[in-house]
Amino acid sequence: MASIVTVPQEILDFINSCSKFIIAGHKEPDGDCVGSQLALRSALLRMGKEAVVCSAGPFKKTEIKKYSTEFVPIPKDADISDTKVIIVDCSGRERTGEIDDSLKPFQSAIIDHHAAVTHPRSTALAPVFVDSDSPSCTLLIYKLITALGLQLIKKEAELLFFGLCTDTGFFRHLTEKNADVFEAAAVMIRCGASPKITFNSINGGKSLNSKILMGNILSRTEAHFGGKLLISYETLSEFTTYGFESRDSDSLNQILMSIHGAEAVVIIRQELADNCTVSLRSIDKINVAKIAATFGGGGHKNAAGLTMKGDIQFVKQKMLESFVNILIY
Ligand code: 5GP
Ligand code: MN
Repeated sequence: MASIVTVPQEILDFINSCSKFIIAGHKEPDGDCVGSQLALRSALLRMGKEAVVCSAGPFKKTEIKKYSTEFVPIPKDADISDTKVIIVDCSGRERTGEIDDSLKPFQSAIIDHHAAVTHPRSTALAPVFVDSDSPSCTLLIYKLITALGLQLIKKEAELLFFGLCTDTGFFRHLTEKNADVFEAAAVMIRCGASPKITFNSINGGKSLNSKILMGNILSRTEAHFGGKLLISYETLSEFTTYGFESRDSDSLNQILMSIHGAEAVVIIRQELADNCTVSLRSIDKINVAKIAATFGGGGHKNAAGLTMKGDIQFVKQKMLESFVNILIY
């Protein structure tokens, strides 16, 4: 059955007992992270509280660029005696990146939907609202806003729907178990979120270079394990030429996953001479979050990522080794 997780009372108490909040998300934010942070800020402001959104950035993805001006550095005058932190869409607080050290002194709560949550429950006052079955973090924020007794306003509905669409690949990763997600989506749409506008804001606005780069990556795709694993890469020189802005991971993965027999897709991106990021996707049974976790990364069962030292050949070898036991059967 779909998720029936309810909002923990300790999260509601955490919010009700404080009037100043810093809402943090993961580094290299995506639509789900930004949507969660901004919708939660809006709800807290409506409750008469003070709230700011903070992120280590960078705001690379085209669809979130316009929101970057909403984000501020962690307020220098924030006092641990009257300010609390809410970390969203992070499987562990270290995912907040460079702002982690500044956040550490504050009492914090975490709201997340990743497979593994490493946030230390160091004190009884570190509430965690986690549902790894939730297809987006914005869906948890939606439940939280509702549990706080608020009706969604249009701006919040749009932000929540934006995150839901980003993380579900515009609903295509959902299954027959997710009727409740569509019910929540219907509420968001009734409150003013437009599927058409949201679709265009996520899938439109891409550069020609992003398609040229995608063509390059597609053209060098290799099939392994009888076509069950597809692996390709972006070179350092392409990264230098095209930059982060030209990455269109969702479209690229969608095309590769449509190939007959494919069960998993690996895209390696060399970002420094000796450093690569790896994006992992699977269609169904293969748990790529587990593979990512063995290299210090993480994510979800069907979508995960990691960073690894080494060049493309080295990282490719490590990835192939990781899939040997899973795909030879
Ligand atoms: P993407 O391939 O789109 O960059 O990431 C897919 C999923 O994996 C996202 O949910 C993202 O949060 C997660 N992810 C990507 N890179 C890392 C990483 O280095 N560490 C962890 N813990 N999760 C990651
Ligand atoms: Mn997410």
